[in-house]
Amino acid sequence: MYIHIPFCAGACDYCDFYSLAVNAAAPDAQRLMDAFVNTLLADAADQLEAFGVEEVPTLYIGGGTPSLLGAARAGRLLAGLDALLPNRPGECTVEANPESADEDFLRSCRDGGVSRISLGVQSFHEPARQALRRVGHSASLEEDLALVSRYYPRGFSADLIAGLPFQTGAVLQSDINRLLSFDPCHVSLYSLTVEPGTPLAEARFQAILPVADEADSLWLAGRDALETAGFEQYEVSNFALPGKQCAHNIRYWRMENWLGAGPAASGTLINDHRGTGVRRAYPPDLDAYLAAPRPAIQSAAFSEELDRAALIKESILMGFRCRSGPDRELFRSRFSRSIEECIPQTIARWQKRGFFRQDSAGLAPSRHGLLFLDSFLRDAFAELG
Ligand code: SF4
Repeated sequence: MYIHIPFCAGACDYCDFYSLAVNAAAPDAQRLMDAFVNTLLADAADQLEAFGVEEVPTLYIGGGTPSLLGAARAGRLLAGLDALLPNRPGECTVEANPESADEDFLRSCRDGGVSRISLGVQSFHEPARQALRRVGHSASLEEDLALVSRYYPRGFSADLIAGLPFQTGAVLQSDINRLLSFDPCHVSLYSLTVEPGTPLAEARFQAILPVADEADSLWLAGRDALETAGFEQYEVSNFALPGKQCAHNIRYWRMENWLGAGPAASGTLINDHRGTGVRRAYPPDLDAYLAAPRPAIQSAAFSEELDRAALIKESILMGFRCRSGPDRELFRSRFSRSIEECIPQTIARWQKRGFFRQDSAGLAPSRHGLLFLDSFLRDAFAELG
């Protein structure tokens, strides 16, 4: 189950997630967040009942900035979910921004059964942070990380971005060293993506962004540094110490079922026997979410049927992001065909180009091959028609 918390302390210039900038200390923001948690719990209850969910293997509370809810509200949300869910999820992640993940919030998470904290660090380099109008300040980051590490020793993940304004190889290396000194068990290293419509896409930013080749070199150097430190790349942008991969995200990449609650959240339910599915998504509109008559999932969500052809494409798209490749057994049982039967020419062509790992009997992309994922997928989709 994915829960979307649509509040942030500000709006970062590169971000295209749905979120509203609020002053969390203001009484009207507090009332809004209280009302939101009530609606969220009611929505989660409706969905669990409507879809007859018997097990929730993973829970992910993302956003936005869930830590902005504060300790008491986060505790109420976690206790409410605990009472609703048919089982205690094997993995429970909460996203947090370092500056709002204070001691009370972390205690509330730990007491509420949260097993992972996922921190939006992005960079310690203040010029890069300021250029993106990233919320928070690098001066307090180390203190914030020390606190998180105390509550979640080897139990937290952090996001870093390569290709930021004013970032050099030395700056990125220093970001990685500083982060690793706090002992995270998982790091997501993203390439900065300039999404159309975000302030970063405006022409005035072009002069301070690294050109594409430089940004690629930065990311590659970051990947090498993480691997040298013992982190294993298990997906395009994700690195973990052994046994510390994010089980929730692996479920997305395997195209397993998930429910989504909160504005802009989506859920996908797949019928394994037919190889078809349904995707439901709430519009990115908090007011509409709060005002929707219950059950909101039927009245306020956009719903799309996923036929076999669409699901085969998505399973290939998601599965090849992982170093272990797609789950071939699951694919065959859903679609009564193997991946090799769906895209024989693409596989043969890319086998010759070294896309797959030689040490694997399966269809697992090699470390080098993963860099060419987009081209591989273009060929695969052309072959699927
Ligand atoms: S804190 Fe995160 S979700 Fe909020 S605006 Fe910044 S990048 Fe987006």
